[in-house]
Amino acid sequence: MNQRTIEKAIAITGIGLHSGQPVDLEFHPQPVNTGIVFERSDIVGSAPIPASAFLVQDTMMSSNLVFGGTRVGTVEHLLSAIAGLGVDNLLIKVSASEIPIMDGSASPFVGLLLQAGFVEQEALKKFLKIVKPVRVEVDDKWAELHPYEGYELNFEIDFDHPAFDKDFQHAQLDFSTQNFIEQLSEARTFGFLQDIETLRQNNLALGGSMDNAIVIDDARILNVEGLRFADEFVRHKILDALGDLYLIGYPIIGRFNAYKSGHALNNMLVREILSDESNFEIVTFDDNVTCPIEYLPLTGLIVEG
Ligand SMILES: [Zn+2]
Repeated sequence: MNQRTIEKAIAITGIGLHSGQPVDLEFHPQPVNTGIVFERSDIVGSAPIPASAFLVQDTMMSSNLVFGGTRVGTVEHLLSAIAGLGVDNLLIKVSASEIPIMDGSASPFVGLLLQAGFVEQEALKKFLKIVKPVRVEVDDKWAELHPYEGYELNFEIDFDHPAFDKDFQHAQLDFSTQNFIEQLSEARTFGFLQDIETLRQNNLALGGSMDNAIVIDDARILNVEGLRFADEFVRHKILDALGDLYLIGYPIIGRFNAYKSGHALNNMLVREILSDESNFEIVTFDDNVTCPIEYLPLTGLIVEG
């Protein structure tokens, strides 16, 4: 299995969640072993920012990268799309300090990347294979990765709130591109009305609306269209985790389990794994060995709806 990049450059414009201002986003193909790299197109001569867990500086509401004083925020939904489609090498140019929020899910990025198309490159795709269980905990929250022949993500949330059905607070993704697109990519972020009002008073979340988030008050979901999945909240948490975990630098072979985790804990887990080389191996799959993770072929990827 070889590395892949996109076939042609492509661009889109969205709104910054915090600024409320238009943000331009461009995707460009990159050579083998480049990885995922961000660049601020609004700052002339600014250094590229690699998508690395070690550059995550604040995780208040999203995962934010800071390198040499330059910031790119809210990278997780885009990284989730990139991980889901198995893209190894990509340059992302962004005209502001945050990736546009789009509809609050990964789906618009998936659509755009599919439109750009993919090319197979002349180097084997590298995976990070978990060989020892690693766990991090903060208070009652925890996240762990275990050895597993595939990539499975299990997540449980625990909201005691009328809008959160007790029966739909845990979910599992058996990772493949197809499962990612169908089961995860459209799950939207969510927020409580009270928190959004506080953020606005601090000049944050100015672009936030029911067009890009599920908004919940004391009793119910305010979006008239309701949920896209009965368990959309926890599916979104898996979407976030997939993006946060891609900051490890490779697709993962392992089983992820998490309870009430978020961007901070996901990042702590990645750093913990990378802190000890005996936790993992970097592996490749040539023609003679079957890869335990299934990506769709380069052509014929179809998104419904
Ligand atoms: Zn999210």
